[in-house]
Amino acid sequence: MSENRPRVLVVDDDSLSRRILTQVLASAGYEVESAVDGQDALGKIRSHRPDVVVTDWQMPRMDGLTLCRILKGTEETRFTHVLMLSTRGETEAKVTGLETGADDYLVKPVEPIELKARVRVGLRLQRALFDLAAKNEILEKLALTDPLTGLANHRAFQEALEAEVARVGRHGRPASLLFLDLDHFKAVNDSHGHAVGDEVLAGFSRVLRRGCRKGDLAARFGGEEFSILLPTTGRFPASLVAERIRKATEALPLGRMHPVQVTVSIGVASTEELPEPREAAELLRRADAALYRAKTEGRNRVVAG
Ligand code: GH3
Ligand code: MG
Ligand code: MG
Repeated sequence: MSENRPRVLVVDDDSLSRRILTQVLASAGYEVESAVDGQDALGKIRSHRPDVVVTDWQMPRMDGLTLCRILKGTEETRFTHVLMLSTRGETEAKVTGLETGADDYLVKPVEPIELKARVRVGLRLQRALFDLAAKNEILEKLALTDPLTGLANHRAFQEALEAEVARVGRHGRPASLLFLDLDHFKAVNDSHGHAVGDEVLAGFSRVLRRGCRKGDLAARFGGEEFSILLPTTGRFPASLVAERIRKATEALPLGRMHPVQVTVSIGVASTEELPEPREAAELLRRADAALYRAKTEGRNRVVAG
């Protein structure tokens, strides 16, 4: 229960002031911790992880301005709401405090009722910032995920491929690419309907996930075409991964509502054979050409280009 209470850290070198602030905020239901200066506060922030820091300006060792600058410049604490208290009431001091990164500024002595109201505002703002950050994270993830299969989408794959091909140039270990296309998939839709086709695609994505190792990236390239990026993997081991996936695909009907037997053709290309300068587009072209050969040579097979 107590873990859910908002946490406030009071930072003040004056013991009386510290005690009063602590009492006021504790009586408002917050979990309050206190520190005697900025230096002390940094340690307490690490262990107490406050939502709001109420800090005095002038203190020995480390003052409130420096504390504020550190909190706002550190990834983990940049959303921590900082309320600065000071006996300095002139406009110039307030502006300095706010420009240094304090989110709010109050002139001492502070009325308890106003202090509590300001802390509430701080918590409200802080919660909104966290919600926004969480939503952004979800949106970013959605923008890179294929909704039907949950695999990486074309865009995510393209970015990862470019990065990996660039990395090959630096560390010298090869990377490989599999291009996979379900055989006669149009016939699945024609015979069983589009919804069953979708189920088969989702089922196939599970085969790919199982067939991948940690660090590999499986993606839905588009339609019934998939791709897998295999970092630090040469042409031969990549062909083994491809063959394992081909076998797993023909072994079991796919789809939950109405399982359908399908097969897959796979093209393999590796950076080992790429001319310098190595380009992602050329690797894609070669995997696609290998896939095309797998199709023309009879489907349900792996061809390494
Ligand atoms: P091949 O062996 O030459 O690859 O034959 P194919 O029928 O699989 O190839 P083609 O490219 O002619 O047809 C692909 C089919 O995949 C047609 C299209 O309707 C279907 N398809 C593409 N995306 C989806 C999808 O999201 N859901 C479903 N159900 N079908 C899809
Ligand atoms: Mg196909
Ligand atoms: Mg196709």
